[in-house]
Amino acid sequence: MNTRENEIILGIDLGTTNSLAAWYAPGGPEVIGAGDDALVPSVIALEHGAATVGTAAKARAVLNPLGTVYSVKRLMGRGLADLADELGFLPYHVVQGAHDTVRVEVDGRLLSPQELSAIILGEVRHRAEQALGRPIAKAVITVPAYFDDAQRQATRDAGRIAGLEVLRIVNEPTAAALAYGLDRRENATIAVYDFGGGTFDVSILHVEGGVFQVLSTHGDTHLGGDDLDRALIDLITGEIRDRFGEALSFPPATRQALRQFAEATKIRLSAEPSAAVEIDLGEGRAYRRTITRGQFETLAAPWVERTIGACREAMDAAGVAPGGIDEVVMVGGSTRIPMVVRRVGEVFGREPYTAIDPDRVVALGAAVQAGILGGHRRDMLLLDVTPLSLGIETLGGAMGKLILRNSTVPCKASEVFTTSADGQTSVDIHVLQGERELVADCRSLGRFKLAGLPPMPAGAPRIRVTFMIDANGILHVRAVEERSGRTASIQITPSHGLTGEEVQRMVRESWTHAREDMTAHRMIDLRNEAGRILAAIDKALANVPGALDDAQQRRLDDAVARLKALLGGGDPDAVYEAMTAANEAAAPLTEAQMDAVLSRTVKGRKLDEVGE
Ligand code: ADP
Ligand code: MG
Repeated sequence: MNTRENEIILGIDLGTTNSLAAWYAPGGPEVIGAGDDALVPSVIALEHGAATVGTAAKARAVLNPLGTVYSVKRLMGRGLADLADELGFLPYHVVQGAHDTVRVEVDGRLLSPQELSAIILGEVRHRAEQALGRPIAKAVITVPAYFDDAQRQATRDAGRIAGLEVLRIVNEPTAAALAYGLDRRENATIAVYDFGGGTFDVSILHVEGGVFQVLSTHGDTHLGGDDLDRALIDLITGEIRDRFGEALSFPPATRQALRQFAEATKIRLSAEPSAAVEIDLGEGRAYRRTITRGQFETLAAPWVERTIGACREAMDAAGVAPGGIDEVVMVGGSTRIPMVVRRVGEVFGREPYTAIDPDRVVALGAAVQAGILGGHRRDMLLLDVTPLSLGIETLGGAMGKLILRNSTVPCKASEVFTTSADGQTSVDIHVLQGERELVADCRSLGRFKLAGLPPMPAGAPRIRVTFMIDANGILHVRAVEERSGRTASIQITPSHGLTGEEVQRMVRESWTHAREDMTAHRMIDLRNEAGRILAAIDKALANVPGALDDAQQRRLDDAVARLKALLGGGDPDAVYEAMTAANEAAAPLTEAQMDAVLSRTVKGRKLDEVGE
């Protein structure tokens, strides 16, 4: 891989909940952005043709739930049928797209998960360019170990739409191990436990002589801190219903507010033994209780125990007993929960390693990988494994596996198949992923046809099917009829993915590129958006007077004045920046307002009006 000496390659942790970037600085890997600013909540607010990303978008979630998209990583490379369990929890509209993909219907447009992720990547890239003062066009992006081919492709496409050449897709646990410099260990077996907002996975790695090998991975792409938030919401809303004896459902704005409130309570309970919950229901009715850490642990236990079960399975798959684990690495915000550290310590029989901030460790590791690709470090070889078995449909609806799960990648396997009918001139090849024996129980990755075969009796053709997984975990399938020499050059479009043309079109239509489009239209959009932000700030100042201290108030006044001054001009980038600055300066205000919103949305309505 050739890259120019001073070219920056970003390492990006594109998280379900939070995203962030790091780079390989002269002194080693460094996260971009200081303190809490480093984490960009993976939330996008789309209103009147403008996109806001991150903390400002998260604050908009309460006021505009239908226009605020979060957890988009859960939609990546998935079809509507895969998402049946999710949709009830997502306040925005998810609809069927082409090729069994989904689209999000938001702000009068239909956007693919790839385009939405590209908006987040564009923001991360923009911030990095601002911080480092240089244009950036290349990146390494991490994905959960459990991501299948379609999900990895979707991530790669998102990068392209954001104008980034994605040099590598790296498994998150592998990145975490790299961040810890565990490649320097002589001979060690390491468990990487990653409990984030939307996904959980655990991987058993082995390091020897500077070579990493992932022995096994296990996990659940539908298990994370969000589930704990929902458990708390269920507890609270259940108790409200019990206590007030009325059927009560909540409108979207209230659900969003409850979500943020539940998360804040959960986070408080990681540091404190108890947290007070108070919700004003109006008409003199109030819901009040104290949740202790013990009560939260009881609530969280079923989810935590699922992760512990996965740890045991990962050890089984790797053929390692707890005594054979030398290090345990904690990754993901949810590993800040004391019970999680305790239980993980118990299952592996070792005190987990928490030296690096679990929110940042994956991005730092991606930066180490970027450093290797950029030529800063050449001393390492990385091996990963494929998380699920891959094969093709054979006669009678059986799954014929070519590559078994937990095979080390890059890898290649081939097998010879034949025809079942006389004179067959074409065969259909159906590519599958999964552990089950029947096609119906496996996931279809795509189909293709090997056509133009000379007619032969049944059983005579020798059709060699070759599977190759490259270093990025992307699957290539090829079929050759060996007697006739007939070779079909085949490209699989994952059945949950986008076609090449679609990606091209999305690159053209990209929101993120709109930023560079210095058109009058862009200026009009920005003026509208700025007008809305200024109005929202005025309103918030009136709603929560005294929320800002003097320094915060001055910062906000300055930012607002600067934004107003720029609105008359014609420099969209400057306006965008000023708008972002005003948004950031208003963040303490929006937070204060968010605390107030929960009681305000519910207050003033009769309980039976609260339902939808
Ligand atoms: P992801 O990798 O899924 O984007 P992160 O690793 O950033 O997620 O983790 C986000 C999750 O961590 C959220 O569910 C958040 O509520 C949770 N979290 C962050 N800090 C804490 C904490 N102190 N205690 C408990 N959970 C936390
Ligand atoms: Mg993560």
